[in-house]
Amino acid sequence: VAAPRVTTSPTETAARREIVEVCRALDDRRLIAGPDGNVSVRLEDDRILCTPSGVRKGTLTPAMLVVVDQYGQPERSNARPASSEIGLHLAAYAARPDVHAVVHAHPPVATAWGLAGRDLMAPVLAEVILLMGAVPRVPFAVPGTPALAAAFSPFFPHHDAFLMSNHGALTLGSTLTLAHQRMECLEHAATVLHAASLLGPVAPLPPAAVEALHQRRSPS
Ligand SMILES: [Zn+2]
Repeated sequence: VAAPRVTTSPTETAARREIVEVCRALDDRRLIAGPDGNVSVRLEDDRILCTPSGVRKGTLTPAMLVVVDQYGQPERSNARPASSEIGLHLAAYAARPDVHAVVHAHPPVATAWGLAGRDLMAPVLAEVILLMGAVPRVPFAVPGTPALAAAFSPFFPHHDAFLMSNHGALTLGSTLTLAHQRMECLEHAATVLHAASLLGPVAPLPPAAVEALHQRRSPS
């Protein structure tokens, strides 16, 4: 059976291409493995464009992406089921009207911080403060269940990047570019801080510097 022909707006066509590029970059940088991870973008009219379930994200094509409404109801033209983590994405969009993109990945070092019960709340790296601020660790809940969105709900209003206990990481952004940059920056910061911690105690930035950096922070 041929996939139904999908006519999309220029915005949606661009978003489909952008998601495919981000998924390929996540795969190339090994921030995901196998079928891991999911990416979505909020389109006009609160339609959510997202990656399908189970496919290796580095091999996606624009036509393989699926659209659901703000309650998760799939559009009839979808060729595949939406990501099993779509509920978490929808919860992020509901909590944050300023957010238009969500990236979930399993970056190995950042995921290790979550496994070790650590967060990245301490203000030690200027670029992390500028790009995303403090990164909390969200308590574990079984992936793909409403419990995961519930675990995030106290954190969504206050943060743009999250470590997920015993699982991976999630980043938000007003654009997909920003959400993607936050995921890359999070993994880079986790890697640097791990190396620094092997060398000795990590000194926090002086409070005045932290304040100055917060003033210059990028919007969500
Ligand atoms: Zn995951």
